[in-house]
Amino acid sequence: MDESENKKRKIFCERCDDEITSRGDLITILQFPVIIAAYHLTCYSKQALGWNPRLTPLNGIAMIWLIIVFGVTCLIMFAVTHLILFLIVACIIPVLRLLSWVMVERILPKS
Ligand SMILES: [Zn+2]
Repeated sequence: MDESENKKRKIFCERCDDEITSRGDLITILQFPVIIAAYHLTCYSKQALGWNPRLTPLNGIAMIWLIIVFGVTCLIMFAVTHLILFLIVACIIPVLRLLSWVMVERILPKS
């Protein structure tokens, strides 16, 4: 391993504190105070007992659907009401998704 390799940021699981080595084994969720928390797939499934919207993975398929459905709903509400608030709300989930990618996912190799 060369020096630039050593300087790479490492991602650690919030539950077991072990390093997460690939995106395939990564679940990111919104969590305070770290904002974006990373978990192993197995650690996440142990953590998320029952469905909790707060624990919806930011890097999962469900989140992409949520962005589409929520975004379209907010845009329709904006078209109807002309309230800027709906445009702002529509941006929240895509911004969180982007944060997850910038802060965690892009650091890890794909597989
Ligand atoms: Zn873990």
